[in-house]
Order: sequence, then C-alpha cells, then structure tokens
Amino acid sequence: MFKRILLGVDGSEHALRAAKLAGELARSMSADLYVVVCYDAVPDYLGEPYLQRAMAERLLASQEVLKPALDIIGDVPSGLHTEVLEGAPAEAILAVAETRQNDLIVMGTRGRGKLAGLLLGSQSQKVVSNAICPVLLVR
Ligand code: ATP
Ligand code: MG
Repeated sequence: MFKRILLGVDGSEHALRAAKLAGELARSMSADLYVVVCYDAVPDYLGEPYLQRAMAERLLASQEVLKPALDIIGDVPSGLHTEVLEGAPAEAILAVAETRQNDLIVMGTRGRGKLAGLLLGSQSQKVVSNAICPVLLVR
C-alpha cells in the first residue's frame, strides 16, 4: 500500500521505536525507506574556522543518530536512503516528503525534548498538521 516511506530520527527512544516499525513496514510493503536526520543551522556569524568546526560536529552527531536507527531498521531490499539536512526538523521533513513524494511519514510521538508531560512534541505536531500524506506516530 505504501511505497515511499519517510522516517524522521533524532536519537530518542521514540524515534528508535518508529525506526523498527518503519523498517518492518518497508519490508512488508516492498517500499523504499527514506531516513531523515536534521541538525540545527550553523550561525553565519561564527566565521572561520569555527564555522567549519561547528558544521563538522553537527555532521558527526547526525551520523551518530543515524547509526543505531539503521541498525534497528535492518535491510530494506527495495531501497534504503538517508538524508542529513540542516534546519528545523518539521519543515525539513515536510520538504523532503514533497520532493521525494513520500506516501507515509513515520515519527515518534515525542523526541529528545525535555518536556516529558507533553503528549506530542512540537515537530510531530507540526508534521501532523501540515503533511499531505498520512502520518504514523509511534509511542
Ligand atoms: P520538542 O522538540 O518540541 O521539545 P520532543 O523533542 O519531545 O519535543 P519532537 O521534536 O516533536 O518531540 O520529536 C518527535 C519525533 O520527531 C521524533 O521521535 C522524531 O521521529 C522526529 N524528529 C524530532 N527531531 C528530529 C530531527 N532533528 N531530525 C529528524 N527527525 C526528528
Ligand atoms: Mg525535539
């Protein structure tokens, strides 16, 4: 039913549970899986060499977020793609979903945010409110 699934991961337990489910869904539906990690924009005013260093740190941290997610996802025979993007997660996820023409977005209900009482994190709330495809939020 779904052929082009997008998964957002941020290193949280919720996102890892979403990753497990997204991997299973992709395999059972012979779908492509796009895994997205977003990192905070590097402020221009930093200047060199701090700009390069800050960028390198963010890219390394993003790879560290990706790795356990990819381990949990496992093989996706139809195709497993990764996208590491700068900027606000919800906007980036919505932009990728449009560009890649994803037909399902999978995310955690919550992420690494500190407000444990919230039912939904701000990024999952924004994606649910604005996505044009179905969104599956994993607790
Ligand atoms: P908040 O960020 O509003 O303080 P939170 O961190 O608990 O709250 P969200 O950020 O909305 O909640 O996280 C919900 C889900 O969104 C995560 O489980 C993950 O799937 C996705 N997500 C969050 N941040 C990112 C990110 N930087 N890159 C990719 N996906 C993300
Ligand atoms: Mg968050």
